[in-house]
Amino acid sequence: MKALVKAKSEKGIWMQNVPEPSCGHNDVKIKIKKSAICGTDMHIYQWDKWAQSTIPVPMVVGHEYMGEIVEIGSEVNNLAIGDRVSGEGHIVCGHCRNCLGGKKHLCLNTVGVGVNRPGSFAEYLVIPAENVFKLPAHVSDDVASIFDPFGNAVHTALSFDMVGEDVLITGAGPIGIMAAAICRHAGARFVVVTDVNDYRLELAKNIATNITTVNVANSELKTAMQSLGMVEGFDVGLEMSGVGVALEQMMSNMINGGKIAILGIPPDKIQLDLAHVIFKGLTIKGIYGREMFETWYKMGMLVQSGVAIERVITHHFSIDDYQLAFETMASGQSGKVIMDWN
Ligand code: NAD
Ligand code: ZN
Repeated sequence: MKALVKAKSEKGIWMQNVPEPSCGHNDVKIKIKKSAICGTDMHIYQWDKWAQSTIPVPMVVGHEYMGEIVEIGSEVNNLAIGDRVSGEGHIVCGHCRNCLGGKKHLCLNTVGVGVNRPGSFAEYLVIPAENVFKLPAHVSDDVASIFDPFGNAVHTALSFDMVGEDVLITGAGPIGIMAAAICRHAGARFVVVTDVNDYRLELAKNIATNITTVNVANSELKTAMQSLGMVEGFDVGLEMSGVGVALEQMMSNMINGGKIAILGIPPDKIQLDLAHVIFKGLTIKGIYGREMFETWYKMGMLVQSGVAIERVITHHFSIDDYQLAFETMASGQSGKVIMDWN
C-alpha cells in the first residue's frame, strides 16, 4: 500500500510502498479517506530535536484521519465493515492504575499512533477496536478528519466552568481557534484570542460571534481588556501556543482565583514567575490528549448542537500533493490542511 513514511533521519517525508498492516483479533482495519496534518507531524517533517529522540526511522506517521472499516477482528462485535470512523490515537495498556481507575488518558504506558507505532498517512490503518470512534451521521468527512485536535480543544475548553466567564486563549493555531468556538458555545462572555500571526487571528475572529483578537506583537492585551470593560482580569485561561511569554502574559492578566488549562507544549524549559500563581491563588491544570472516551462523546454532541469548526479547515490537497500540503502547513498561512485519498 501507499504510505507517507519518515524514511530518513533528515528533514522531509516520503511516499513509499509498504506492506499492509494485518488485523488482529481485537483490531479493526480502516481504509483511510482523509488525512489531516498535525503540529506533531510538522515536528517529524522538520526533524527537530523532539522528533529525532522520539521517532524510530523508518516509520509511517500521521494520526488525524477518517475512513471506513474494511476488516474486523474475530473478537470485535460492536463494529461492522462499512462503518464510517475516526479513532483515538493514544493506545493505552488497560491495566495500569490510571486505566483501571477510569483515567485512560493518563495511562502510564501510552503508545502513539504515527509516533510510536505505524500511523494513518497510509491507505490502511489497523488499531484496537476500543480506539475506534464510530461517526454520527451529522459529522461531515472533513470535520471527522480533525476530530483528534478538536478533542484537544474540547478537553481543554471544558476543563473549567465557562458560563458567563471571560476567557483568554493564547495561540490561534487550529486548536486555539476551535477552542474559541467551544468557549462561546459553552457560555463564555468574552473570549479573547492572542497570537502574533494576523492570518490566524482572522480565522479565530470568524469562527464564532463575539471573539476579540489581539496581535500581541504590536498591540496591548490590556487595551483590549479595557475596551471590553474588563476590570479584574480573565476568569479562565487556555494556553495553546507552547510559548513561555504567552503563559507569563496569561498569568499576569488573570483574576485572583482564576483557572488556567495548559495544552501548549514548550519546546524547551521555560522560566515563570510563580508569584502570580501563589498570590493570585491560580489553579493550573495540564491537559494531555482527550479523555477516553468522554471527550469523544462531547465532540460528536457539540457538533450536533451547533459548534461549527469547518472554517478552521483552509486547504485541501490530493495525497499525491503531500509536499505542497506540508509546505502550506509550514508557512503559517493556514488553518488545518487536509489531504484526500483516492
Ligand atoms: P500551532 O503551533 O499551530 O499554534 C500555536 C500558535 O501560537 C501559532 O499560531 C503561533 O503563531 C502562536 N504564538 C506564537 N507566539 C505567541 C505568543 N507570544 N502569544 C500568543 N500566541 C503565540 O499549534 P496547534 O496545533 O494549534 O496546537 C497548540 C499547542 O498545543 C501546540 O503547542 C501543540 O504542541 C500543543 N498540543 C498539545 C497536545 C497535548 O496533548 N497536550 C496535543 C496537541 C497539541
Ligand atoms: Zn494504562
